[in-house]
Amino acid sequence: MGYAIVGALLLSGIIQLSIGIYVMIQGRRGRNLWFSCLAIAASVYSFGYASELTAHTVSEALVCMRIEYLGVAFLPTFGLLTALEFAGDRRRPGSKLVMAVLAFSTLTLVGMYTTNLHHLYYADLLLTKVGALTIVQITRGPWYTVAMTYANLALILGAAVVARSAITAPADLRPGHWLFLAGFALMGLSSNAYAAGLSPYGVDLAPYGFMVMNALFLIGLSPGQVFDLVSIAKSRVFDGMDDIVVIIDRSNRVADYNPALYQIVPKRGRDYASEFLPQVFEKNPEIAEFAMANRDSETAIALDDGSGRVFRARLRAVRPNDRRNGTRTLAKYLTMTDITKEMTMVRAMKDLADLDGLTGIANYRSFHDQVEQLTVGQRVGRPISMIMLDIDHFKVVNDTYGHKAGDMVLQRIASLLSQNIRAQDVLARYGGEEFIIAIPDIGADGAVALAERLRRSVNALEEIYESQSIKVTASFGVACGTIGPGLNVESLIKNADRALYEAKRSGRNAVVLSSARSNP
Ligand code: GH3
Ligand code: MG
Ligand code: MG
Repeated sequence: MGYAIVGALLLSGIIQLSIGIYVMIQGRRGRNLWFSCLAIAASVYSFGYASELTAHTVSEALVCMRIEYLGVAFLPTFGLLTALEFAGDRRRPGSKLVMAVLAFSTLTLVGMYTTNLHHLYYADLLLTKVGALTIVQITRGPWYTVAMTYANLALILGAAVVARSAITAPADLRPGHWLFLAGFALMGLSSNAYAAGLSPYGVDLAPYGFMVMNALFLIGLSPGQVFDLVSIAKSRVFDGMDDIVVIIDRSNRVADYNPALYQIVPKRGRDYASEFLPQVFEKNPEIAEFAMANRDSETAIALDDGSGRVFRARLRAVRPNDRRNGTRTLAKYLTMTDITKEMTMVRAMKDLADLDGLTGIANYRSFHDQVEQLTVGQRVGRPISMIMLDIDHFKVVNDTYGHKAGDMVLQRIASLLSQNIRAQDVLARYGGEEFIIAIPDIGADGAVALAERLRRSVNALEEIYESQSIKVTASFGVACGTIGPGLNVESLIKNADRALYEAKRSGRNAVVLSSARSNP
């Protein structure tokens, strides 16, 4: 039986040491540090106690107990710190508290190590034999009582902290807390049972209790806390993102990507990892080309698949965290966000701001912007013409057929005008029944000819409204200038307006060319 007890202690020591080392390696950035210290201290306790049970003399037993105490002295402290670490909502155990409790444990160790000098820790030691086992019976000194009181206080405090957090913990974490609490209870019970002389044959049961406690703690910690919570969470975030993320190695092969990529490439059995970008984006060479560049950049990419989807693509280099290793690029990553909705909205808002609501052609404000654009750049020295037209006696149309009929006439004339101009010309509704056309690269003769053609077309137009035929005419003013630093668009418009006034005065349904120069 003796060997079985010693064997179980050694096994318990090995298991606890493994738990301690395992958690220390797994728990990155010092997470669960105190728990691994607790497990290692408990394993030292087990090993020391196993050797104590096989000691032959008091001095041999004392050497074994000293080894044992390297663990025992720190167990309550590590237990308390584990509890604070586990439950410690927001607060990590403060460094002052940590120093104080570690100092107390060190003091206990010193007291025990020097007990031969002062007998304050053990007043007396006595060996008895139970079968093959050596049981050391101690007579406690006051220092021992103080250490034991501290141990119980630390355990009660630890248990209270865990109990409190168990009550407030989210439901799914609560079982872990109760296991932790059970571990504390077991630690307290087993050490106090021994101290009270309740353990069979005087064998200290605490090391076994600790082993069970450590197993409970390990389960209670929940896999997420031991097994790198952060990297699990990171991969969840990565996989669950709506944005496409593609990590690209330095030879432009895909290193990793998230399932959002399937928004733009087909999902298939084989995955895309280690494929070259042009293969992955064979349907979207623009994306491959963008991602193959070696500089941080950003662009909007419209897909070629006829879906009208637009993505904002960003390319960023991945550099080492540690700048001392240089600014060498390790890899790069491409992120793509679907901005189709935003683009549609932006376009709609721009249309709302730039287009006339009734006719759908440009409004006065956007006409000015567009003409400004025309007069900058490489067009210096080339002519630009302005045609302004106003429907004759339009008030009569409204008065005779109603406002709605008038609106329809305005729409017809707008579409007639837009069908008769070139892409580079700018047409706008300038006022109620006034339109304006800016014609770059066309001089006075061409502009007058165009105006004449438009006048005839308007004249020939027949709008049928509620089976009534509506016919209108329009008057045209034309002005011409040369693009250059001195061109004043406003005066060009004013001259066209004056010519239009002349056309009205001359009897309407006419084209008049301004004789004024628009260049100073
Ligand atoms: P003139 O030959 O001298 O240009 O005569 P006119 O009647 O066309 O001139 P006037 O400027 O006096 O009247 C313009 C009319 O155009 C007045 C207004 O009711 C009408 N009008 C302006 N905007 C709109 C519109 O959006 N819809 C309709 N139906 N009528 C409009
Ligand atoms: Mg008019
Ligand atoms: Mg008018």
